[in-house]
Amino acid sequence: MVVAIRNNLLNAGVAFGDAVLLMSRNHIDLPSVIFGIILSGAICIPVNPVSTEEELLHIIHISKAKWAIVSQEANNTVLTSTGPVTSSALRKIWTMDEILATGSNSARQLEPYQSQSLMADDIDWSQRVALMPFSAGTTGLPKGVMLSHRNILVNLIQIKFLRSVRPQVKTNFYERVLLVLPLYHIYGFNQCMATFFAGGTVFFPSKFSIHGFLRAIDLHKITYAPVTPYVIERVHEYPKLQDYDLSSLVGFATGAAPVSCKTLLSLQKKIDSRIIHGYGLTEASGNGCTTRGSSEVSAASVGPPGPFLQAKVVDTETGRLLGEREEGEICFRGPAVMMGYANNPKATAEIIDSDGWLRTGDIGYYDENNHLYITDRIKDLIKVKGYQVSPTELENVIMKYGNVSDVAVAGVQHRNLGEAPRAWIVPAEGATIDIVNLMKYVADQVVQYKQLAGGVEIVNSIPRNHIGKILRRQLQQSSVPPNSKL
Ligand code: AMP
Repeated sequence: MVVAIRNNLLNAGVAFGDAVLLMSRNHIDLPSVIFGIILSGAICIPVNPVSTEEELLHIIHISKAKWAIVSQEANNTVLTSTGPVTSSALRKIWTMDEILATGSNSARQLEPYQSQSLMADDIDWSQRVALMPFSAGTTGLPKGVMLSHRNILVNLIQIKFLRSVRPQVKTNFYERVLLVLPLYHIYGFNQCMATFFAGGTVFFPSKFSIHGFLRAIDLHKITYAPVTPYVIERVHEYPKLQDYDLSSLVGFATGAAPVSCKTLLSLQKKIDSRIIHGYGLTEASGNGCTTRGSSEVSAASVGPPGPFLQAKVVDTETGRLLGEREEGEICFRGPAVMMGYANNPKATAEIIDSDGWLRTGDIGYYDENNHLYITDRIKDLIKVKGYQVSPTELENVIMKYGNVSDVAVAGVQHRNLGEAPRAWIVPAEGATIDIVNLMKYVADQVVQYKQLAGGVEIVNSIPRNHIGKILRRQLQQSSVPPNSKL
């Protein structure tokens, strides 16, 4: 199937280095399509299938995508669009069904597959982009993260190494993996690839519910389920946990957003299996640190940096190298660090210094065992259920609503979502803003998790520093905890 899809793309004119948008929810054939795109020498751009037209146009503009493969839900935006997506530079759009049908037809006629003939060995794959997820990084709008073939392979080798350092675990973690994480996020992508790499099987539920999730673990004797803190919380508070046989589980993993240490420890006890706590970011190909045991220390910490990864903690003001238990910005260096942001050397230079150190925008410290602890985030990024939300993107949407003189968006704590975007708005002189109407307007422009679930506050002015940068921290501290029912 993979080879057939690759041949199909090449026959349609997809050239080496072309960008191909892939908009699909998790689906049993989605990995084949990802491999097919990458094997053709093109760049796979995984996109949330329910992205709005505005969001898509931004991605097409930055990535210069010429081709798109879209699943059913995406039809609403891409195929049925009469707006600018249709007149954008996209040369051909396939539905998933089309690409899979042509893939399986020609798969039947394929000669036995000779791997050597498909990937040229005179190419420096460390400098070729394979995957381009989008990330807002430390500030501004989402940017195309250029991950090379080498970046991704290094990640898989890291995960393989981590398996080997858990000798106390007899069962292969990756034997039967329940994947509720979307493949368009680097965490889901990595866990899917790692399962294949380990010779395991991935189970994709068609939609998420806690009951469905627990039932799938029970029914399919799942060994491992990587999830976000949102799922950890929901499983932890689920009143009927004992109705399910979870004994096949070697463990859960949590990552992509902060998690409550107390919940982790309590859930570990309840389900009697370990929970691995991981920390990373798209710009470092997803993986960073993971814990290796289930002790109390590891629940509070995200563990030591993975293999091949150098980490340091620096003073946020002076950049001075800090020592044990001194809090500062965490920086990473190594072969898993991205090649840079697509078509954006300025943003790349702001996040990766001339010595190759990547600024994570996260605050933390390390202990005497080199275990890292994440304590805060200084970048603008908001994480809702593990998904990225760029405040700048929401600010741009709100400015277009009209009668807005100034606006700032920042994340606030939210009981269900972890964090949620909240907007502080200065109305134009003499104007009043109908908050309910504004929230509805925003909801129409962006995908669901980006909505203003943290609320809206009308203010007289937005605090800024001397160069006009919004002082989001000041706004966050001034905010009353939002009503989670908003
Ligand atoms: P993403 O690129 O979407 O994976 O987002 C990466 C960011 O999510 C990191 O820079 C952190 O701010 C946050 N993050 C990821 N994992 C954790 C974690 N275990 N604890 C706290 N924050 C995390």
